[in-house]
Amino acid sequence: MPQDLELYDVTIVGGGPVGLFTAFYSGMREMKTKVIEYLPFLGGKVPYFYPEKMIYDIGGIPRISGEAFTEQLIDQAKTFEPEIVLNEQVMHMEKQPSGHFLLKSNNGARHLTKTVILATGYGTLKSVKLDLPEAADFEGTSLHYAIRKMSDYKGKNVLISGGGNSAIDWANELEGIANSVSVVYRKSTFTGIERNISKMMSSAVNVYKPYQIISLSGENGQLASAIIAHTENAIQEEVPIDNVIVNHGFVIDLGPISEWDMKMQEGSIVVDGRMETSVPGIFAVGDISNYPNKLNLIAGGFHDGPIAVNNAKLHIAPKEELKPLYSTNYEPLINKK
Ligand SMILES: Cc1cc2nc3c(=O)[nH]c(=O)nc-3n(C[C@H](O)[C@H](O)[C@H](O)COP(=O)(O)OP(=O)(O)OC[C@H]3O[C@@H](n4cnc5c(N)ncnc54)[C@H](O)[C@@H]3O)c2cc1C
Repeated sequence: MPQDLELYDVTIVGGGPVGLFTAFYSGMREMKTKVIEYLPFLGGKVPYFYPEKMIYDIGGIPRISGEAFTEQLIDQAKTFEPEIVLNEQVMHMEKQPSGHFLLKSNNGARHLTKTVILATGYGTLKSVKLDLPEAADFEGTSLHYAIRKMSDYKGKNVLISGGGNSAIDWANELEGIANSVSVVYRKSTFTGIERNISKMMSSAVNVYKPYQIISLSGENGQLASAIIAHTENAIQEEVPIDNVIVNHGFVIDLGPISEWDMKMQEGSIVVDGRMETSVPGIFAVGDISNYPNKLNLIAGGFHDGPIAVNNAKLHIAPKEELKPLYSTNYEPLINKK
């Protein structure tokens, strides 16, 4: 066993919303906790893809911006002072004769832990790219995969490609800001939330479906127009644009974690009712965990985290009782106020 390393009860890989809430709960169960995050900041997809967007579907919080929500999550996660490591991608795992896990990161750092909770989301947050050779000429300048600052689109002609929740939400949010908003989707039926679809359909957003972008043109990284084509007949149209926002989902890229001998399904990690993977002592929560009727929402991940922590505690001390713990009757928290 690596003698030089401090031993943790739980190491949470990923400091997104689910990893952060899991760290809070782990502290409440008096587990010595470490969080390792690949990015230079905490919060995962929320600050990365939608810092300015309002979130409305977290119980007890009627509305909150992505940025404010991230601040509160970090504040809560730090309650029990977990060790937080940024800028490190966990890559490899070695099971020790002691039963502990040795984790190795991309920068050579090593971490010793009794249990692991994977809260990696889809991994390295890679969006599915627009499948056109010229797309790369505009990426980062006038073609984007996320909207970080809505005011950048003021007075612009924006074309959004995609038909899921994100695409429709962005269309609704930008409608009052941009000069024009168009949505192009290759299928006939949108998959976003019904109410948001109805809002978009009755707004000034130009909807093209079933259509897809077949070419882009412009100069020096600045888009000028897109050719969109009907997917079932020969109709094509040229749309003048300043920006394209592509919302085609994410590539699941866990790196070497996908080779840890855990049962996987469609790129995500299969867990049982305890959120435990097929490797005892390794748990998975949030977007990366896979079980029947899984909900890839923040609220779904907030359910996974405490289950994983309680069962990680049982993994360490199998004779203990599995007890849910309420924060309202937890004395150290009451005294902190
Ligand atoms: C545009 C958009 C809008 C959304 N709106 C909502 C909404 O309104 N309500 C809602 O409930 N959900 C919403 N979602 C979904 C929500 O953001 C996700 O369900 C949530 O972020 C999942 O949290 P997570 O912690 O599991 O994963 P993530 O947020 O993806 O965080 C995972 C973290 O793990 C890190 N990581 C990955 N691999 C490693 C590694 N090997 N080592 C170290 N760190 C690693 C990543 O860098 C990342 O920071 C939205 C998503 C998008 C894209």
